[in-house]
Amino acid sequence: MNTYKKRQLLVDYLIREGVLKSKDVIRAFLKVPREEFVLPEYRNSAYEDYPLPILKGQTISAPHMCAMMCELLAIKRGCNILEIGTGSGYHAALCAEITSPSDSPTLGYVVSVEYFPELAEFAKNNLAKTGYDDRVYVLVCDGSSGVPTSKKFDRILVTAAAPSIPSYLLKLLNSPGRLVIPVGSTFYQVLTLVEKDEKGDVREIKMGGCIFVPLLGKYGHREDTV
Ligand code: SAH
Repeated sequence: MNTYKKRQLLVDYLIREGVLKSKDVIRAFLKVPREEFVLPEYRNSAYEDYPLPILKGQTISAPHMCAMMCELLAIKRGCNILEIGTGSGYHAALCAEITSPSDSPTLGYVVSVEYFPELAEFAKNNLAKTGYDDRVYVLVCDGSSGVPTSKKFDRILVTAAAPSIPSYLLKLLNSPGRLVIPVGSTFYQVLTLVEKDEKGDVREIKMGGCIFVPLLGKYGHREDTV
């Protein structure tokens, strides 16, 4: 079976399961080649719905988790997006495809930050070979404590388990804006949606249980230099 067919079957499955819903997120899932974001030895598993190992003991999230987060973020064309936890770059590419489709002029962009320089390089290569390096900017830093930009973002996603919501992220979120983050211990978290309204008022909605790799760094679960 060719890769596009496999991608289509995964998308059909995620629609049937009620995880993929909106037109723009479905289009992005059909467009971004997940096989280009996994290690060569896992290419054949790229369209299975589970996380896969990447470098440094980290994982590329399962497709259904990327889908859930993209749907919760309700990304509109032109949104500027911040991701904490670049990993493979796959989720960043999905976000880029939603805010700035490949066949239209560049509208919004994605800034994605990664703790491990090796993973940032891995992601940059993956994004370059798939053509997303014009809309995704990868930076190396400890995203638990801050990012080297004073720009604000319309959408923020954290793709590692945080002990609590880093307060600086709320300041970086535009009004209105949305933030999605797994909050909890290292072995179980609650996927949390934070909505900021036009007046800057914030409310938190708990969406359900999930399991992510831990957020590292100063305000993460631990410092790590693996
Ligand atoms: N979004 C990724 C998967 C994320 S796995 C993808 O699409 O492939 C979580 C990632 O968060 C890992 O790459 C890990 O190294 C990174 N990470 C963990 N703590 C971090 C921190 N404090 N700042 C930035 N990145 C962090």
